Amino acid sequence: MTRGICILGATGSIGKSTLDVLARHPERFRVLVLTANGRVDEMAELCRQHRPKLAVMRDPAAAQRLRERLADLPDIEVGGGEEALCAAVDYPGVQEVMAAIVGAAGLLPTLAAVRAGKKIYLANKECLVMAGELFMEEVRRHGVTLLPIDSEHNAIFQCFGDERGVRRIILTASGGPFRETPLANLAQVTPEQACAHPNWVMGRKISVDSATMMNKGLEVIEARWLFDLSVDRISVLIHPQSIIHSMVEYLDGSVLAQLGNPDMRTPIAHALAYPERIDSGVSSLDLARGPALQFQEPDLQRFPCLALAFEALAGGSAATAVLNAANEIAVQAFLDGKLPFLGIPRVVAATLEVYQPQRPADLPAVMAIDAEARIRAQQQIPLAGAA
Ligand code: NAD
Ligand code: MG
Repeated sequence: MTRGICILGATGSIGKSTLDVLARHPERFRVLVLTANGRVDEMAELCRQHRPKLAVMRDPAAAQRLRERLADLPDIEVGGGEEALCAAVDYPGVQEVMAAIVGAAGLLPTLAAVRAGKKIYLANKECLVMAGELFMEEVRRHGVTLLPIDSEHNAIFQCFGDERGVRRIILTASGGPFRETPLANLAQVTPEQACAHPNWVMGRKISVDSATMMNKGLEVIEARWLFDLSVDRISVLIHPQSIIHSMVEYLDGSVLAQLGNPDMRTPIAHALAYPERIDSGVSSLDLARGPALQFQEPDLQRFPCLALAFEALAGGSAATAVLNAANEIAVQAFLDGKLPFLGIPRVVAATLEVYQPQRPADLPAVMAIDAEARIRAQQQIPLAGAA
């Protein structure tokens, strides 16, 4: 029996890696639904290749263009808009959903999938940064299985045995493209330099997050909710080669690590097949010929975003929602050439400073905090040193 899959964010880096793994196992999986934001050409190509039953573009105008492009494939239904995106997760036959939209935009469709009782593969970490407590409550209420795709969290999941014996988890981080750039040069770095990650090819937002190390901060918050651990039991270690994807330390001193070549098809295949194992297309790790493995403490002066994420986590659910929204605004402004790289932590810090809402009791409250934090963060951009 094949399992019906919906991919939210099919045109992205995770979406495409997922399709690559799924195409290797047609006897197990059937791609039923693909969604994307606005990239019609890429979506049309994916539809021709994978033949879903439904394709949804969040942008309704893009949906109309896709409909015209796929006129010769009447079996593929095309939908458009926010509502169609949330409905797509419950299309007939869909049992499992890959949540791979980037940013806060993924929260509502991913929650719709949780509420529809689907098995969730979670790449979209911003869902948990924005609304971790409420999101995990919904996961429990609907009894859904949630499997982590983020390579660190997937590694920890693989190394988790008896949770009572865990002393701490250690999230590894490459340190990104600017790990050794002289601090004085960071003021001038461009979006192209920031997006040129040494080990991973990823979407632009997460690439900038990796360069600031906000990505690791978001992952600390993600781990806090996924594994129900207090922040003092989560540490971060720089490991430039990205071969060890994370570790779990036990009370007896044992440390279990998951290793592999840096290719997201490994955690994707792990989660899709769990508890079995399937081929992902990733080559064998050659430790003898590969680079020596190195480790160092993260430098919080170089990476103030990591410190801001720890502070927000200590501040509670409202603060992490503000952190996420302010970061999304700052990263977009940097990518648009409207904010220097060093302005990103300034915008996030200033927004956290000026806007300290109450703990959100429900989802509408989270959405309201997100919207207000975006306005406040926009206001900080000219003050944080316009590019
Ligand atoms: P990406 O930018 O390559 O792709 C994002 C996808 O989301 C695209 O399909 C796009 O069409 C869709 N999208 C963007 N905005 C949208 C909106 N407003 N509404 C609906 N759809 C929208 O991003 P990515 O690198 O694939 O990352 C996706 C998620 O996975 C992020 O949360 C990221 O943090 C996480 N993640 C990515 C990697 C990686 O290696 N790329 C690793 C770990 C975690
Ligand atoms: Mg990661």
